[in-house]
Parts: sequence; C-alpha cells; structure tokens
Amino acid sequence: FFLTFEGLDGSGKTTQLRRLTTWLEAHGEHPLVTRQPGGTKTGDRIRALLLDSKTEGLAPLTELGLMFSDRAQAIAEVIQPALDNGHIVLCDRFTDSTEAYQGGGRELGSEIVLALHQTMCGDLQPDLTILLLPDFEASLERARRRNSRNGEVDENRFEREGNAFYRRVFDKYHEIAAREPVRVVVIDGDQPIEEVHQNVVRLVEAKLSA
Ligand code: C5P
Ligand code: MG
Repeated sequence: FFLTFEGLDGSGKTTQLRRLTTWLEAHGEHPLVTRQPGGTKTGDRIRALLLDSKTEGLAPLTELGLMFSDRAQAIAEVIQPALDNGHIVLCDRFTDSTEAYQGGGRELGSEIVLALHQTMCGDLQPDLTILLLPDFEASLERARRRNSRNGEVDENRFEREGNAFYRRVFDKYHEIAAREPVRVVVIDGDQPIEEVHQNVVRLVEAKLSA
C-alpha cells in the first residue's frame, strides 16, 4: 500500500505523516517512511543541490530532471522493494509535488511532468494521496516562519519566488484533485492537528480494509 502526502510548504504534511506512522506502528504495521526529494543517499545529495541557497539559477527543466532523477532512485532503492515486501510505504511528496511546483509554479505544464512520470516511474502510482490544503495565506505564513529558522532551505526563497509562484502551485494542486477524485483526497488543513490526524486515520483505515 503506497500512500503519499501532498500540500504546500507549511501545510502540515510532515507532522501528519509522523502522527500516522506512530498510529500504524501501534497497530502492528511496519511502515516505510520516506520523503522527496531525498530518502536515499543519492537523493539527499540531489535534495541538497536543489535546496541549498548556494545553488543559483537552476533552470526549470534542470529542476524537473533532478526531481525525477531523485524519484527514480528512491523507487529503485527504497519504495519498490518495500512494497514488494508487503510494507505500507508513506512518502512525504511524490509526483503531484512535481506537477504542482515545476508544472504549475515553474509553469512547465502538467503534460511534461506526467510524460516523465511514465518514463521514469512506470506504472507506479500511490494507492492514496492525502492532499492537505489549508488556507493559502495561513499556509504561506507557517512556511515563512519555519524556513527562517531552517538552515537547509534558502531563507530568501519566499522573497525570490513571490506569492504568485505559490498561488500557481496551490491552483495546480486543486486541478490535480479535481482530475483524480478517487486517488486524491483533500483534507482541510486549517483544522487542529488532532482533527486532521483523525481524518487521516479514518481514511487510511477505510482504504486498508477495502
Ligand atoms: O518537502 P519539503 O516541504 O521539505 O520541501 C522542501 C522544499 O522543496 C520546499 O520549499 C518546496 O517548496 C520545494 N519543492 C519544490 N518542488 C518540488 C518539491 C519540493 O520546489 N517538486
Ligand atoms: Mg515538511
């Protein structure tokens, strides 16, 4: 069972993924938890290259290629083996992020992202994607606060990208949700963490017993 978490920076993906991991472990599961970009040694180097403030002027297509290089490595090294061994795999971001950020944010469009997914990832699709969509402004504010105390992420990211970039990401996530109503479930990220968690648990329970 392959489950992905999606949403804007600051939407609470990582928090919810941790809470769900704890819940699954309490129920006797041994989920494999990973994230993108990252999750393998090669992937962590790609992540550093993408997010380090020393990296300047990455062309949108370079960014796109790096995202899928990271993903192909993660699938080969971590995700597919875990799925083959019967584990639940939880992934913090997957191809929907690439469609939203590079397709929407960087304006490369969805088509090239979906075509590359086919080439680089084959038929692998999440069984369930939880898309956390809080209010746009609230989500940006949280991300801004966090990034300013996170050495890894370029502190000037928001100033550099601007709100218009994140608005395009946000809109693309809505487009994906509308296109894929079965796989993608939208959860209102403005609820308290505990309530979001309860929603996530209900969804996962339903899917696992289906
Ligand atoms: O997953 P996480 O929220 O830690 O993402 C790290 C950074 O990478 C974020 O600032 C996010 O906006 C960016 N990102 C991106 N394109 C992706 C995935 C993540 O620009 N496809
Ligand atoms: Mg996170």
